[in-house]
Amino acid sequence: MADDATTNDAWDAIIIGGGIAGLTCSIFTARAEISTLVLNHGASLVKRNAILENYPGFPAGVNPRLLVNMIEDQAQRNGATLEQARAQRVTRTEEGFQVETDEGTYHAQRLVAASKDSPTYLDPLDPPLTQEGSKTYLETDEDGRTPIDGLYAAGRMAKKYHQAIVSAGHGATTAITLIEDADPDFFHDWVAPKGYFTLRDRDVPTGVEEITKEERNRRERESVRVMQDYFEEPHDAPPVPHPKVKDKPGFDA
Ligand SMILES: Cc1cc2nc3c(=O)[nH]c(=O)nc-3n(C[C@H](O)[C@H](O)[C@H](O)COP(=O)(O)OP(=O)(O)OC[C@H]3O[C@@H](n4cnc5c(N)ncnc54)[C@H](O)[C@@H]3O)c2cc1C
Repeated sequence: MADDATTNDAWDAIIIGGGIAGLTCSIFTARAEISTLVLNHGASLVKRNAILENYPGFPAGVNPRLLVNMIEDQAQRNGATLEQARAQRVTRTEEGFQVETDEGTYHAQRLVAASKDSPTYLDPLDPPLTQEGSKTYLETDEDGRTPIDGLYAAGRMAKKYHQAIVSAGHGATTAITLIEDADPDFFHDWVAPKGYFTLRDRDVPTGVEEITKEERNRRERESVRVMQDYFEEPHDAPPVPHPKVKDKPGFDA
């Protein structure tokens, strides 16, 4: 498997970490036709949560293990590729970056670190870091750029507030930064009703799609069907325990 995954074909973007920030970032980059590979190893921190009650869109809360599955499916539906692999070492190449993992070596023009904290795999790049207790974060501007050209960070890795929706929002912010760096055009990932721009004699902006009522109805029926499947039964995966409490009596997950 390790050698099979090794390839010199470069992705436009590799995202290290398939948690809330990384997956959200990949939805936006893939929708902008930036070829996107997400490398994930281990479980998103949100899978330790019991029930997620402050993520918008779920009035009575949502099982976070289900939410991560849904965001993974959304990333793949929009064209991102997800691989299980642990990033071990990132180096510079002429075209961008080389990422060595336990499953093989990958190349990309741009790289997003979204692996929560402690990015030791970036040591060869000598990135600017902030230490806080046992955690190490990457220094970025508000939009997710690091001072290293082509290297971004999203979510907790960029020391954003420790809430899932904040990581999701920052994943999206970082993606749009990357998209605009790759092609510095006005960019909104929007779906608008047919005529919203064109009936005002305006071109449909980059990233925007105008759709007919018929197409809107088709997409809504598909959305209802997909959501009914997800929520037909309670999701059965229990919270991932913290390593220090998993064998202790009284941990009631
Ligand atoms: C017990 C608990 C309860 C919580 N409850 C809530 C809540 O109720 N509401 C709320 O808003 N937030 C809650 N949170 C916080 C929320 O889970 C985090 O803020 C959010 O998950 C951070 O998103 P992220 O994408 O930055 O990191 P993560 O979601 O943790 O994603 C990082 C991903 O990168 C992977 N990774 C790490 N290193 C590598 C590597 N070298 N190569 C490849 N992949 C790697 C990790 O395994 C993980 O999958 C809770 C957290 C915990 C621990």
